[in-house]
Amino acid sequence: MEVFGLIGRPVGHSVSPPMHEAAYAALEMDARYVTFEPAPEDLETAIEGADALGIRGLNVTIPYKEDVLPLVSPDPLAARIGAVNTIDFADAPTGHNTDATGVVRAFDHHGVDVDGAAVVVGAGGAGRAAAFALAEEGATVRIANRTVTRAEALAEEIPGGSAHSLDELEVLLADARLLVNATSVGMEADDETPVPAAALHADLAVLDAVYAPLETRLLREARAAGATTVDGAWMLLFQGVEAFELWTGREAPVDRMNEALRGAL
Ligand code: NAP
Repeated sequence: MEVFGLIGRPVGHSVSPPMHEAAYAALEMDARYVTFEPAPEDLETAIEGADALGIRGLNVTIPYKEDVLPLVSPDPLAARIGAVNTIDFADAPTGHNTDATGVVRAFDHHGVDVDGAAVVVGAGGAGRAAAFALAEEGATVRIANRTVTRAEALAEEIPGGSAHSLDELEVLLADARLLVNATSVGMEADDETPVPAAALHADLAVLDAVYAPLETRLLREARAAGATTVDGAWMLLFQGVEAFELWTGREAPVDRMNEALRGAL
């Protein structure tokens, strides 16, 4: 049996197990996806132990995405982002950031080309992943954040990146093609949005990283403005799809994983 899993703290409410196990069932794989909650001081031993036990792959979630970086060989994108959410144990443990590739694949799945001007709202973990991923694809990335100094620090690391306050969103979005909400605004409260409705328009594709609720005020207002909308479950789905494909070398059964994920959210 092949074993995959997730390490973080807490991991009890993760929707990754049903999403990945749906893929194993669809492809008739003898595999399991298990969650682990090592204590911070045991993280290094946990990674070495997983490798020694023949675990094929681990996803990594809060609070360990940065902490595992020195414990694996990160690929260039994960190294630049400074965070790993997927470890592949095939040879030496290698680290990847499929939160980043998940953003691009979520847009791609909706027929949206990642180029032109992109506005990323938020400069935390999700904002970093989105900003690096979009820049890697050739987009010009404008980062707007409540704490502008944080946006500035991130923008300095992104080729062609610029930093802004939330007050500038209307101007920033006027000629933009992509918008990613990578703040937690809208989470658990569908009456909040970080972006004024007047800034939204029909030439935009809007991805909201928030996945609880799936239908955020931002997405409702974006749809009303004629924009293409991509909910947070698509980003979550494609980080999992990308991890599955890295670990197994097989094409992921995307529809089955999507069905299981949405059923579990
Ligand atoms: P984080 O590192 O804690 O960053 C939070 C971000 O939200 C920061 O930019 C913060 O701004 C901003 N923010 C928080 N409260 C705000 C407010 N009231 N007004 C304006 N900005 C505010 O969190 P994260 O890990 O990046 O996660 C951010 C969101 O993305 C969460 O909803 C999370 O669930 C979601 N997410 C989704 C996926 C997915 O696969 N769909 C993956 C990862 C994360 P300051 O810098 O000013 O504090």
